[in-house]
Amino acid sequence: MTLVARRIRVTGIVQGVGFRPFVWRLAQELELAGWVRNDAQGVEIFAQGDAAQMDALLQRLRSDAPALARVDAVQAQDEQSETLSAFTIRDSVKGRSSTAIGPDVATCPDCLTELFDPPNRRWRHAFITCTHCGPRYTVTRALPYDRAQTSLAPFPLCPKCEREYRAPADRRFHAETTCCPVCGPQLELLDAQGLPIRGDAIAATLTLLQSGAIVAIKGLGGFHLACDARHAGAVARLRARKNREEKPLAVMGANAISLAPFAQLGNCERALLEGRERPVVLLRKQPEAEAVLAGVAPGLIWLGALLPTTPMHFLLFHQAAGQPAGTAWLAELQQLLLVMTSANPGGEPIVRGGMEARERLAGIADAYLDHDRDVVARCDDSVLRPLDQGYQFIRRSRGYAPTAQRLPFAGPSVLAFGAHLKNTVCVTRGDEAFMSPHVGDLDNAATCAFLDETVERMLNLLEVRPDIVAHDLHPDDYSTRAALAFAARHDLPTIAVQHHHAHIAATCAEHGHSGPVLGLALDGVGLGSDGKAWGGELLRLYGPLCKRLGHLRPLALPGGDKAAREPWRMAASVLHELGRNAEIGARFQARGADTVATMLERQLNCPRSTSMGRVFDAAAGLLDLSSHMKFEAQAAMLIEQAATRHIELHGWPQAVENGWSISSEGQLDLLPLLASLDRAPNVDQAAARFHATLVAALCEWVTQAAQAQDLRTLAWGGGCFLNSLLSSGLRQNLERRGIRVLAPQRLSPGDSGLALGQAWVAIQSLEQ
Ligand SMILES: [Zn+2]
Ligand SMILES: [Zn+2]
Repeated sequence: MTLVARRIRVTGIVQGVGFRPFVWRLAQELELAGWVRNDAQGVEIFAQGDAAQMDALLQRLRSDAPALARVDAVQAQDEQSETLSAFTIRDSVKGRSSTAIGPDVATCPDCLTELFDPPNRRWRHAFITCTHCGPRYTVTRALPYDRAQTSLAPFPLCPKCEREYRAPADRRFHAETTCCPVCGPQLELLDAQGLPIRGDAIAATLTLLQSGAIVAIKGLGGFHLACDARHAGAVARLRARKNREEKPLAVMGANAISLAPFAQLGNCERALLEGRERPVVLLRKQPEAEAVLAGVAPGLIWLGALLPTTPMHFLLFHQAAGQPAGTAWLAELQQLLLVMTSANPGGEPIVRGGMEARERLAGIADAYLDHDRDVVARCDDSVLRPLDQGYQFIRRSRGYAPTAQRLPFAGPSVLAFGAHLKNTVCVTRGDEAFMSPHVGDLDNAATCAFLDETVERMLNLLEVRPDIVAHDLHPDDYSTRAALAFAARHDLPTIAVQHHHAHIAATCAEHGHSGPVLGLALDGVGLGSDGKAWGGELLRLYGPLCKRLGHLRPLALPGGDKAAREPWRMAASVLHELGRNAEIGARFQARGADTVATMLERQLNCPRSTSMGRVFDAAAGLLDLSSHMKFEAQAAMLIEQAATRHIELHGWPQAVENGWSISSEGQLDLLPLLASLDRAPNVDQAAARFHATLVAALCEWVTQAAQAQDLRTLAWGGGCFLNSLLSSGLRQNLERRGIRVLAPQRLSPGDSGLALGQAWVAIQSLEQ
C-alpha cells in the first residue's frame, strides 16, 4: 500500500450544510487520518492514507456531497505525511468570510420519519430539523452561522440535543437550529383577541380550519392566511376580508397525489412541487377544480399549488389523516386542502411577528397559530411556472434566496437597488451575485422601509462594503432615492441604468454573456433615456453600453396610470389611432367613455408609451376579455389563457395577414393586428391569432435587426415573457432562423430580476 498525504480545498456552498461531518464519515469509511475545518474560503481538509482510498475521497467529495451542499471545486495538493492516528473535526479558522447563508429548506425525509414515529422523542415536534433541512436565511441575524446568531439563541440545548450536536456521526452534528420538545420553541394558538386557546394547538387549529375559520399560520418567512380550500364560504370570507376580489390564491396539499384530481401533474410539475425549495407551482387546472375549489382561482385555467414546507404544515395534514404512526400516509391521497396566501395586507410586506400579526391582521384572521421562534427576515413564497422544457420563475424568494448566481468573472462589489415594482436588491461579491428575497412594490412606506432593512441585512450577512451603487434611471422612484442617499452616506459612486437595458443585462449576466448582443425588452413600463415611457424595445448591448435600435409604435394612454388598470381605455386608444374615435362612446359601456374619446381627440392627459404590456391590455379590451383589472396583469393572463384553450385543441393558427409593419427607423407597428381583433366572433381563436401574429412580427423585427447589426444572439427580458405562448413561440421561430436565444432561467423575466442587470452594467462600466 502506498501512503500519500494531501491538502484538499473544497469551495462552493459547503458551510452550514453538514459538510464537515460528511467528510469525517467518509474518512472513517476510507480509513484515512487527518482533519477537516471551515475557513474563510470554504472547507479545508488534510488527509493521509492509501493512495486508492485517497482517490476515492476526492471523487466522493463531489459525488456524495450532502443534499444542501454545492461543490464548485475540489483542489488537492501533495503534502508531507504526518504522525496522525485519527481523523478529527477542527474548529473554524476565523477571517473575512466568503461564504454565505443558505436558503430555507423543507423538512427532510429523515426528519419526517422521526416526526411521525410515536416512540421518537421528536414525535409531533413542530420544530424538528437537522443539518439537511429547516430554516436558514429567515432565522439568521448575522454571520458566522451558529446558534447564537439565530433566533434559536434563546433556546439552549438540552443534554440529549447537546449530545447529538457534538457527535460527528449524528445527522444533527452542528445543526444550529436543532431542538426538541424539551428545549425548543413552543406552538401557541390564539383567538382573534389574542387569548390562548387551550388544548393541542395542531388539533385545535385543524378544527377551526374545518369549521370555516381563517387562521394566520406562522411559516418560515412570515405568516400565511389559511382556510379550508374546499369550503367556499371560508374562501369567500378570506377574499372579502383581505379585499382581494379575484386575484388567485395558492392551495397547499399533503402531497402531489392529493393535488392530482385538481391539476395536471407531469414529471416536471411533480419534481418542482416536491423539491426542497417548496415553491408555489402554477399548474394547469383540471375541470374538477372549478366545483371543489370554488373561488380559489376564479376564471383562470391555472392553479397555484404547493406542498407542506415546515413540520407545522405537515402536522396539520397528519392530524387530518387521523394522526397515523409512520409515514405511509404521506404517499396516500389526503382530503385536506388549505388555501395558503401571504399575510401581507394592503400590499405591504408579509407579517412576521406575533404582535404584528394581531395588529395588522385584526379583522382578517379568526385565530393565530404562532410560536416563539422569531422570523428574523421576511421571505415570501417563491412562484414558478413549468414550461415545455424546464420552468420559469415568477417570483424567486423563499427556498432560493439568497443563493448566489455565478458571474463570468469577478469584479468590484456592487449594491443594486432594483426596480420600483416587485423590488429585490442585488449585492455582488467577487464573481457571485446575491439576489435578496422579494421586497415588493415600493408604493407604500412599509415596503420602502423593508427595502432599507433588506439592503442592510444583505450587506451584513455577506460582509460586503460596496464599491459602487446602481439604480434605475427614474429620479422619483423610491429605489433611486434610497440608492442616492445610501451612496451619499457612504461616499460611493453611483450609476443609473435604464430599465430595459437592465432587463437585458440581467439575462446576459445569468448566461455569462458580455459580448455584443441584441436585446428584446417587452414589459409594462420603464423610463426611457429620452424621458418617455418605454416598454417594447429592441436594443443592442455591448459591455456596459446600450443602443436603442427600435421600439413599438407609441400608443396614447388616456388617463395615464389609469390606462394601465383599465384595458378598455387602451382599446379606446387603438380605435382613436385607427380614426374611429366617434365609435368610442358607444363601443365601451364603461363610465367616462365619452370623456376618454374627447381626451384622445385633444390629446389631454394622454402620455404615449411604447409598452408591449399596454398592447396586451388593448387586445384584451378589444376582445372584451377584460375592461377593469382586479389585479396586476389580469388582462394579459386572460388573453393568454384564451389563446391557450384554442391552441390546445387546434394548434397554432396562421398569423393575421399584413398584421404589422416595420418602418425604416425600426418602429414595429401592430395597429393592423389590433384592428383585426375588435369584436372578433370567436374570442379564443382571435386570442390565439393575436399571439401567432405577435410571434411572427417580433421574429421578423429581430431577424431584420440581426442582419443589419450582424449579430446572431438575442437576449430577452421583461414581464411580457412570463407569457409562455409568447416565449415558447418566439424561441422556436427565432431558433429556426438560426438566432440563439438567451432567456431568463434562474430569475424572473419581470422586474424582480432587474437588480442583477443593474449590477452587471455597473461591474462592466468599472471594468472598462
Ligand atoms: Zn431534517
Ligand atoms: Zn432538546
